[in-house]
Amino acid sequence: MPPASFKSYDLIVVGGGIFGLSIAYRALKAGMSVAVLEKDRIGAGASGGLLGALMPHMPARWNPKKEFQFQSLLRLEGFARQLEKETGIATGYGRCGRILPLTTQDKLDHHKERSEEALERWHPETTGFTYEVEKPGNRSDWLSAEAAPFGIVYETLAARIAPRAYLKALATYIRENGALIEGCGFERYDEAAGRLATSTGMTLTAERIVLATGPQSFAQIEGITGQMIGRGEKGQALLLEGAGLELQPAIYCDGLYVVPHDDGTIAVGSTSDRHFETAAVDPVRTEELIRRATSFCPQLEGREVLTVWAGIRPRCNKRDALVGRLPGTDRVYAATGGFKISYGIAHLIADCLVAELIGEAPEVHLPPSYHPAFHFAPSR
Ligand SMILES: Cc1cc2nc3c(=O)[nH]c(=O)nc-3n(C[C@H](O)[C@H](O)[C@H](O)COP(=O)(O)OP(=O)(O)OC[C@H]3O[C@@H](n4cnc5c(N)ncnc54)[C@H](O)[C@@H]3O)c2cc1C
Repeated sequence: MPPASFKSYDLIVVGGGIFGLSIAYRALKAGMSVAVLEKDRIGAGASGGLLGALMPHMPARWNPKKEFQFQSLLRLEGFARQLEKETGIATGYGRCGRILPLTTQDKLDHHKERSEEALERWHPETTGFTYEVEKPGNRSDWLSAEAAPFGIVYETLAARIAPRAYLKALATYIRENGALIEGCGFERYDEAAGRLATSTGMTLTAERIVLATGPQSFAQIEGITGQMIGRGEKGQALLLEGAGLELQPAIYCDGLYVVPHDDGTIAVGSTSDRHFETAAVDPVRTEELIRRATSFCPQLEGREVLTVWAGIRPRCNKRDALVGRLPGTDRVYAATGGFKISYGIAHLIADCLVAELIGEAPEVHLPPSYHPAFHFAPSR
């Protein structure tokens, strides 16, 4: 046995968020030896949040990115059920659907067009997923009629998952089938020697590494490529007591999500702050979230606040996620920048990245805007 400090892996994944854990899980399934390094604890970053909304892009101006996310959402239920079977841990996955209020005639007209396009893009005849405009007053026991004077959209593709439970299930599988090392930060990787140095003084060897370090990835990537391709953006959410509301659809209104979960809680979020001083919860923001959410969803009025949470999402400057080998390197990969939709796409991102690592074609190809070539300026 080599000494622990030189333990050797096919792949080291840096970062125990939804991207890192999904990639490690998929790589283990492909037969690789895998370790995850997490500087703090699983879910210490943006992935340890509360919302878990799995929302489709609008069925308008369809493109490869929207198709990729659609394919991800179609597959996520099967993926979550398989993981639950393997680990015995419920992920809180549920196909809840979503309501959007229509506040102007213009929006009503737009969404009628979108519902036409959904017939073509969402293939309701085979998938069963619909995107329909409903008249004013429909479902007003949940989204107030005043918030939706021109009616609502009700679509059935949207789903939700319990973020912390999903991470726990992935981490459990990885612990049982690979290595998961918490409290151990990545410092640097010597590609030529395949050696990775950690903050705890350990040296590990790895054929390849993947940086999945959320907002911190951008400084690490800059250190390797010389280019700063993204930033962090703060958001805040809270969990309310929601007994009796478990079967209601999610609402997206006024920039906020209201997402009922199957454990009798309701998640509300998220705000977006490009400029922030700390990652801590801002009580003014908490009050604002409650006030805005109860204004369009009166059933939330007076519900007990169970938890408040703030996190920093990784956002690439070009908005789409970055997945693949970093320019100028042979063995360093990155998966980051999922911004607001990471939970819905992480499992398919993992499929694509691991397919690349083992030299196979993925079942669904990454959209061009997720490739490194899209995010980095060509070197001169
Ligand atoms: C308020 C809010 C609400 C959101 N709601 C949703 C939602 O409803 N649906 C959705 O899909 N997305 C949502 N998001 C976005 C989503 O949470 C993020 O896009 C996603 O969690 C990012 O995952 P990640 O794995 O890339 O990064 P992270 O979760 O940030 O994970 C990165 C990990 O890397 C670790 N790390 C960093 N540096 C090192 C190092 N040097 N060595 C070792 N480890 C390191 C960190 O500790 C962290 O655990 C929301 C975000 C916020 C803030």
